[in-house]
Amino acid sequence: MTTARAESIYRRLVARLGRVLPEMELRHAAEVAAEIERLKVMRQAVVVAHNYMEPALYYSVADLTGDSLDLSRRLKDLQCRTVVFCGVRFMAESAAILAPDRQILIPSPRAGCSLAESITAEDVRNLKAALPEMPVVSYVNTYAEVKAESDICCTSSNAAAVLRKLGEKGIRRVIFLPDEYLARNTAGELGWNFVVVGRNENGGLDGVGGVPGQGAVVVGWRGRCEVHERFTVADVENARRQFPDVTVLAHPECPPEVVEAADFSGSTNAMISYVERNGPRRLLLLTECSMGDNIQAANPDVEIVRLCTLRCPHMNEVTLEQTRWSLENMEYRVTVEDTIAEAAARSLEGMIAFA
Ligand code: SF4
Repeated sequence: MTTARAESIYRRLVARLGRVLPEMELRHAAEVAAEIERLKVMRQAVVVAHNYMEPALYYSVADLTGDSLDLSRRLKDLQCRTVVFCGVRFMAESAAILAPDRQILIPSPRAGCSLAESITAEDVRNLKAALPEMPVVSYVNTYAEVKAESDICCTSSNAAAVLRKLGEKGIRRVIFLPDEYLARNTAGELGWNFVVVGRNENGGLDGVGGVPGQGAVVVGWRGRCEVHERFTVADVENARRQFPDVTVLAHPECPPEVVEAADFSGSTNAMISYVERNGPRRLLLLTECSMGDNIQAANPDVEIVRLCTLRCPHMNEVTLEQTRWSLENMEYRVTVEDTIAEAAARSLEGMIAFA
């Protein structure tokens, strides 16, 4: 039986997503969303959703949406006992570290990340031993143990600003983990040299011998986002051939030659702002495909070129149904051990201070 609350959510979803999703899907989403709203009140909970969440969830039950930096920054202002983090595990861990007085839940224990899984705390300790004069800047897409070994965190929206600031302090030789492409793109933007290192089969380090003894250098790690690494220059060229007026936006986790071929590169929030500011007629988005749907819903006059079928399998674990289950069962609780949380908080707060 459809409740008044479900009917009202349904009407809101049709207005927002009627061009993106079929009517039956919206009807079902509204029913589940109405139950989530009821559970939110009962549990004194809020739902926080990353920009890569599926449109029906993003536009129905989310109290706060944004990219990693934005969500980390605004988390403390939420009035609630429980936060259901609709994103992946490293994000929920950051929430648990930054808001230790709240209970943090993630709807799926399988929502990982190929970047976060590419590096361990032991890898960072090995790097620090091999390159002791270099500070460690970690992308926020890392687990708490890696953040705890780092000097500062960054996101794709402030990576260049963090390195620039270090440069102003005379520090122009840094270890930047774990996304090789973000590190390479950032080094390129700053005009610094770039060297990539990685773990060898014995658990030691490969490539450290190639780090030059002098000059500005970013030492990156062999980690990749399994979604963004798949975009190619041919994707951009094919879209431009078919649609000469297309504007191409690329996430900085894409390969450098793809970023070079695009018109603009920035974090998910930066891409959303670009579209709002410039109102391009046609858009090719080289990022996770649910975000294309979310931008399409918010900007009905923009035509999104449908190249993208690249859905992040980790983000895809988190659905409306899983979110309902999470609130019903108060699972899966995300906690970080105290000493790790304390050290990781310093790196995260450094990142937030930069913003
Ligand atoms: S899109 Fe890439 S970086 Fe983001 S969670 Fe998925 S695998 Fe990780």
